[in-house]
Amino acid sequence: MAKTIRTQVGIIGSGPAGLLLSHLLDKHGIETIVLERQSRLHVEGRIRAGVLEQGTARLMREAGVNERMDNEGLVHDGVSLAFGNRVERIDFRAHTGKGVIIYGQTEMTKDLIQARLNAGKAIEFEAPALAVEDYRTGTPRIIYEKNGERHEVICDFVAGCDGSHGVSRQSIPAEQLTLFEKVYPFGWLGILAEVPPVNDELIYINHERGFALCSMRSHTRSRYYIQCALEDHVENWSDEDFWKELHRRLPSAAKDQLVTGPRLEMSIAPLRCFVAEPMRFGKLFLAGDAAHIMPPTGAKGLNLAASDVFFLSRALTAYYAEKRTDLLDRYSETALRRVWGSIRFSLWYTSLLHKFDEDPFNHRIQLADLTYMTGSEAARTSFAENYIGLPFEKFE
Ligand SMILES: Cc1cc2nc3c(=O)[nH]c(=O)nc-3n(C[C@H](O)[C@H](O)[C@H](O)COP(=O)(O)OP(=O)(O)OC[C@H]3O[C@@H](n4cnc5c(N)ncnc54)[C@H](O)[C@@H]3O)c2cc1C
Repeated sequence: MAKTIRTQVGIIGSGPAGLLLSHLLDKHGIETIVLERQSRLHVEGRIRAGVLEQGTARLMREAGVNERMDNEGLVHDGVSLAFGNRVERIDFRAHTGKGVIIYGQTEMTKDLIQARLNAGKAIEFEAPALAVEDYRTGTPRIIYEKNGERHEVICDFVAGCDGSHGVSRQSIPAEQLTLFEKVYPFGWLGILAEVPPVNDELIYINHERGFALCSMRSHTRSRYYIQCALEDHVENWSDEDFWKELHRRLPSAAKDQLVTGPRLEMSIAPLRCFVAEPMRFGKLFLAGDAAHIMPPTGAKGLNLAASDVFFLSRALTAYYAEKRTDLLDRYSETALRRVWGSIRFSLWYTSLLHKFDEDPFNHRIQLADLTYMTGSEAARTSFAENYIGLPFEKFE
């Protein structure tokens, strides 16, 4: 039988944005429900990001879901850039006093789901939201489906944390949204394998055959990417083909360290940048990939989802604690400032490392840019500041 659930904040999506928001609001006694289209197994099995900025790690600690992240996450104080037969390391700690934490989005999601269920709070899996209604002036309603029946959530506010193909943004009339988009003519072919990483820290590679990235999830599990054509398919790649191509693009010093093994997962992520403005429509707030996505080069997608949630959780908490609406009013412009700051870095970094065409002139310019960037104290500091994550602006 169709049911009606009443809550304070209805959250659509149990990715990092929705889950983290639910925990931060729970801490302040704000009631939430999380609706998720997919099964728990599916959500916990998705292989995605793996670099946490300090701000994201801080929010996990504030949510009280940090034990495994702090025990098992790897603190990285720098990255290496390989180009033109050179490898240059940028030392984040020396330039900013901070590092990043390598901890898979998959693990973060598992921790947030388990902690929410342990606390007896609801996540409705396999419950796709179909529409968000009456969010402009009335009492918002989320229409969702579960076991073939339609139900509704009636709430004070809706947090649309349902990723780039979710229903929240689609519920907003197109003429009220301004969309910005940039599509790249290539993607990243990624492999996850139970093999020790080639290096202790990430290596970003500008190679004449195309970009590559040596990344990891732990001391025994590696995540590698190579730039591929947009129209390429995973079926075109055997494990052996992947390892051979990666080996070609590695700097000489790393070639001997490469340990190969069967894939646990292989996928292609197209590179795209997309922003929808504004991020607030009456009582409907967009957060994370629902409002913006960007090329993963700068490792910003997951971290921006977290920073949106930082601003949104503060705004909702101020509303329930003190009936303040000023932070809700400032949410969109404040979150978007950080979004565009991160896009600026991600696009610049993407342009520096990828092969866009066969023109050797363009490759020479990239090499000159990399030489300057790694050789100048000021440029290294600027890179480090952006990579570890711009600070959250004051929001109170
Ligand atoms: C294949 C892939 C690889 C990536 N790799 C990287 C990387 O290496 N580095 C990096 O920084 N970033 C990466 N990203 C980006 C990063 O993973 C995202 O920015 C991050 O997941 C954003 O979190 P989110 O909670 O906003 O959205 P999501 O994680 O997408 O979560 C949205 C949730 O909403 C659910 N949902 C959708 N529609 C509905 C509906 N109608 N009703 C209910 N639930 C719904 C979805 O099932 C999903 O669980 C990658 C993304 C993808 C897709």
